[in-house]
Amino acid sequence: MESYKTLNPTVRTLMGPGPSDIHPRVLSAISAPTIGHLDPQFIAYMDEIQDLLRQLFSTQNKLTFPVSGTGSAGMETCMVNVLEPGDRVVIAQNGVFGGRMADIADRLGAEVVKVEVPFGQYIPIDAIQKAIDGKATKLVGIVHAETSTGVRQPIPEVATLAHEVGALLLVDCVTSLGGIPVEIDQWDVDLAYSGTQKCLSCPPGLAPVTFSQRSIDVIRNRKSKVISWYLDVNMLLNYWGGDRVYHHTAPINMLYGLREAVLLILEEGLENVYARHQKNHQALVAGLEAMGLALFVEKPYRLPQLNTVVIPDGIDDAAVRKSLLTEFNIEIGGGLGALKDKVWRVGLMGYASRPENVMLFLAALESILTRQGTSVQQGKAIEAAHVIMQS
Ligand SMILES: *Cc1c(COP(=O)(O)O)cnc(C)c1O
Repeated sequence: MESYKTLNPTVRTLMGPGPSDIHPRVLSAISAPTIGHLDPQFIAYMDEIQDLLRQLFSTQNKLTFPVSGTGSAGMETCMVNVLEPGDRVVIAQNGVFGGRMADIADRLGAEVVKVEVPFGQYIPIDAIQKAIDGKATKLVGIVHAETSTGVRQPIPEVATLAHEVGALLLVDCVTSLGGIPVEIDQWDVDLAYSGTQKCLSCPPGLAPVTFSQRSIDVIRNRKSKVISWYLDVNMLLNYWGGDRVYHHTAPINMLYGLREAVLLILEEGLENVYARHQKNHQALVAGLEAMGLALFVEKPYRLPQLNTVVIPDGIDDAAVRKSLLTEFNIEIGGGLGALKDKVWRVGLMGYASRPENVMLFLAALESILTRQGTSVQQGKAIEAAHVIMQS
């Protein structure tokens, strides 16, 4: 047999659209001894994880648990449990992930009405109202934090519109949870899902979800069986809730990691976590603007955890990102879909949202752009970021 070298991935600074940097306490929790998924000790951890997730989502929803799968599995879990063929569904799309929601609804045989605005814009409430059109609708789906564009979408008004026609509101919180406020109960959101590798700073592999009583009533009144065996919450509930009946083997060590990650956030305090994301975002923006670069999204709709930066004319996107990775060990994201080659996506998510990362990135980018012959303002970015950090 060939001899393979011992696994030894380089330590990178993960400042892309996810995965984000993992806190050392999370990595250490993952390496704790594996125990059985029906071990009383593990069952106690499961109860704790559900309780921690309720605090993170700001909800009392009993049906709150992590799906074994990535964020997209969370999306599919929410949709497959409430949708039946022929249901009318309104999906708001201003980026890649709204498109994914629409695709899943279509595969489930729903009648999909899309509200589309160009990538990078927020979706106006009257456009959503027009698409709902006063008609009986089963579900309204929207992305809270569009990671493909860096746009933040206001949620509470959408909830009111959905409920007026008896629809459930589904919110994608993959990138928002742990980065900006997510208020499931206060906003009256019926179904929400997230992922572990964005602002929770845990490796990818789990999708926290939460279901309101209204959505559970819809599931109870289904005419047809949920078409997915793995994602059917009726059965998952017997494992995560009451009877602890075996359904599938829970990813034990990943769940240790999630427990530690949420604990870290709650120890710091949700308000402090949001304030940290906001401050580091402001410092990054100040630095980029001092250098002469522009942000892609209008100020009121910018996400602090995902910054889209307009790539200046004449700059080779791939070459810049390659230099960041190979010279500085920094990963950032490129543009997706319509934004390919047009923007960089700079994540300041969870544990990666730290002042030293902002400074490292600004210094690295200035150095690379200068060498590429761009006329960026030199020596101004770090100072501008520093001023914000001291304020
Ligand atoms: C990353 C992401 C997803 C998909 O999550 P995966 O973990 O990649 O499956 C869905 N929605 C948004 C907004 C995301 O950022």
